[in-house]
Amino acid sequence: MQAGPTHYHKSIVLDDASLLPPAASCPWCGGLDRQAIATIQKQPEVLLLECSTCHASSASRMPTPQALDAYYGNYYDGASAAEHAQTEGRVTIGDAARMGAHLASSLGSIEGKTSLRILDFGGGDGMLAVLAAENFMKANPALREVAVTVVDYNTQMHQPSNPAITVRGATKLTELGDSTYDFVIASAILEHIPDCAGLLRDLLTRVASGGSFYLRTPYAAPFMRLAEKLGKSWDFTFPAHVHDLGQAFWEGYFTANGNDKLFAIKSSRPSIVQASMSERPVEAIISHLFKLPWHLLGRAWGFVGGWEITVTRR
Ligand SMILES: [Zn+2]
Repeated sequence: MQAGPTHYHKSIVLDDASLLPPAASCPWCGGLDRQAIATIQKQPEVLLLECSTCHASSASRMPTPQALDAYYGNYYDGASAAEHAQTEGRVTIGDAARMGAHLASSLGSIEGKTSLRILDFGGGDGMLAVLAAENFMKANPALREVAVTVVDYNTQMHQPSNPAITVRGATKLTELGDSTYDFVIASAILEHIPDCAGLLRDLLTRVASGGSFYLRTPYAAPFMRLAEKLGKSWDFTFPAHVHDLGQAFWEGYFTANGNDKLFAIKSSRPSIVQASMSERPVEAIISHLFKLPWHLLGRAWGFVGGWEITVTRR
């Protein structure tokens, strides 16, 4: 859960003792019919399985909690300063500013509000939520205060320059009691958490009536299926990533299981291109080109790399 949008992860091969036994059912819906669409690691074998009921793709074997602790511990403490600088550098200032503005516009209008509560689950140091808050304040002079709550193992919080924005960190959702929030953010975090169907339900209960929930996850399954057919391997960044969730999953999730009675889909689209055109032009152009055909072809085009959905609570 230390994983945040500002972190880049590297794949490692897990041994048998670091893997749980193969799961019999889909961790999201309990469905039993799942098709292997790609190989995540060969020995011991871990496959990416797509559920034919909810369309989530998940690793056939999940890392043990101990293996994940070791992975993140090594990742954070074992890396050299140069490695840290390199991975942190994946998200530039330009990227972060664009993401903050994008989050604010995705979450929607706050007209008439004088205060705002934002929950960013897995939000790292809270910088993106603070940037979103700054955008809200700029656009809405009536807004006097924004309280940002970040749930993350990272306890060093970004300090906003605007005193009207406060940032509070917590390491677990249970520390928050029954509080609800105008905006809840789960951006590039759910894919890291093996057992997360209950967690998602918990987050849904924290969206205040009339509030919005922004979710963003990677969706690499079509690339992985194609790579497998071509005999190539695709780096899934396992065990950091254990799920892969696209349009079919998210739209299905919010139109079934009673969620449609509680939530309305505000927007559902290929995720924002993270790289800014001025600072990482090649990456930005490639990402845009892959997402472009979706606007013509819709769901028939899966090569979008990631998905984002915003829902509002009725
Ligand atoms: Zn499922």
